[in-house]
Amino acid sequence: AFEGLAERLQATFDKMKGRGKVSEADVKEMMREVRLALLEADVNFKVVKKFVNDVKERAVGQEVMKSLTPGQQVIKVVNEELTALMGGEQTKIATAQKSPTVVMMAGLQGAGKTTTVAKIANHLRKHNNRKPLLAAADIYRPAAIDQLETLGKQLNMPVYSLGDQASPVDIAKGAVEQAKEEHCDYVLIDTAGRLHIDENLMGELQEVKQAVQPDEILLVVDAMTGQDAVNVAESFNEQLGITGAVLTKLDGDTRGGAALSVRQVTGVPIKFAGVGEKIDELDEFHPERMASRILGMGDVLSLIEKAQTNVDDERAKELEKKMRSAEMTFDDFLEQLEQVRNMGPLDDLLQMMPGANKKAMKNIQVDESQIGRVEAIVRSMTKHEKDNPSVMNASRKRRIAKGSGTTIQDVNRLLKQFEDMKKMMKQMTSGQKGKKKGKGGF
Ligand code: GDP
Ligand code: MG
Repeated sequence: AFEGLAERLQATFDKMKGRGKVSEADVKEMMREVRLALLEADVNFKVVKKFVNDVKERAVGQEVMKSLTPGQQVIKVVNEELTALMGGEQTKIATAQKSPTVVMMAGLQGAGKTTTVAKIANHLRKHNNRKPLLAAADIYRPAAIDQLETLGKQLNMPVYSLGDQASPVDIAKGAVEQAKEEHCDYVLIDTAGRLHIDENLMGELQEVKQAVQPDEILLVVDAMTGQDAVNVAESFNEQLGITGAVLTKLDGDTRGGAALSVRQVTGVPIKFAGVGEKIDELDEFHPERMASRILGMGDVLSLIEKAQTNVDDERAKELEKKMRSAEMTFDDFLEQLEQVRNMGPLDDLLQMMPGANKKAMKNIQVDESQIGRVEAIVRSMTKHEKDNPSVMNASRKRRIAKGSGTTIQDVNRLLKQFEDMKKMMKQMTSGQKGKKKGKGGF
C-alpha cells in the first residue's frame, strides 16, 4: 500500500514547473498526496487534518528556493513540519539530580516492555557509562520474571525480584533501595501489561508511581498497532501521566505513523525506537528520520538534495569558465553581474567558486539594486571604451554619467569594481585549480 508514494509525489512535482511563489493550487494538490500518505502510514485522521492545514498555511506564498520546484519546496516544508511535530530535536532519557534515576515502563502486553528494559539498560551502560538495576515488577505474566532474569544474565546486570507473590509496589520500592546500596545509578522497572487498557492495571501502575516517584515513565508502544496506538497513548497519559515513549517493532514494514500520533496526542517526546528483537536493536529516536519514513520519501528528499547539488555544480562551472576567460570586457562584466543577479546572493557563489580568493572578492560587493544602474552605465560606453577601459578619462566619464542618468561617482565606483574583479580573476587563474567533485557523486 505504501508503494509508489515517492513516484506519486514526483509526478505531482513534475506538473509544477513554474517558478516563483508556491501557489495555493500547488500546495493543495501536493497536500492531497501527503494526506493520503499520512493516512496510509496510520497517522490518526485528526492529526492529519491539523497537520495538513498547518503546512498549507506555511507553504502558500513561500518564495521558492532557487534550486527547488514548488513541489519540492512543499515537500521540504512537509518534512520540516513533520520533524517539528515529532519534537524536532532528539530527546535523551532523563537523569535525576540524585541517583538513582528511576525509570518505570508502561504499556500493553506484548508491546515490548521487558525487552525494552534490557535494551535501555544496555544502551545506558554502553553509551552513558551507567550502572543500571533491572526490577521485575510484572507478577502476572507467566515467566515474565524469568524473562527479565535471563536478559539480566545475558547483560551481566543485577535483576531485583521478589517472586510473583509480592506486590509490584514492594518490588519497585525494594529495587530502589537495593540500587542505592549497590550504587546503581538507574533503576528500570518492568511492569505488567494487559491486552487492553483496564482499570486494575492503571490502578496498580498509579500505586507504583506513587510509591517510587519515577523520574521517567516511558510508555512502550508497538508501532505495528497503528491507529490503536493513539487510544493507548491517550489513556496511559491521562491516567498515569507519561514523560516519554518508546516505539517498538519499527523493524517491521510499518511506516511509523504511530510515532506522530503518539507525540501529537500526548505531547511527550519519543525517546527510543526498537528496531529488532536483539538487545542492541534499539536506536535513539530521531524525529527527522521518522518524518522521512512516514512520508516514505527518503528517495524524494535525496532527489531534492540531488537537484540542489546539480544546480550548484552547474552554476559554479559556468561562472568559473567566465572568470577564467582571458580578457574581460565591460560587456562580460555586465553579463556576469546579470548572472549574479539571476543566481542569487553573491555570498553563496563565493562559497562555491573553486580556488577563489575570498578576501579579494570581499571588495566586489554587488548590490543587486545597483545592477540596473551599472547596466545603464555600460550601455552608455562606446565600443572602444568597453574594449579598452584604460582610455577612460574625466570627460568620457562625464559623458557616460550624463548618458546613463548617473553620477561621476557611480561611474568611478563601477570602474573600481571592474578593476577589482579583474585583479581577482588574475589571482584565481594563477592560483591552483579548485577541487573537483568525484565523478557522479552528489
Ligand atoms: P511486554 O509484554 O511488553 O513485556 O513485551 P516483550 O518485551 O515480552 O516483547 C514482546 C515480543 O515483542 C517479544 O517477542 C519481543 O522479542 C518482541 N519485540 C520487542 N521489541 C521488539 C522490536 O523492536 N522489534 C521486534 N521485531 N520485536 C520486538
Ligand atoms: Mg513483559
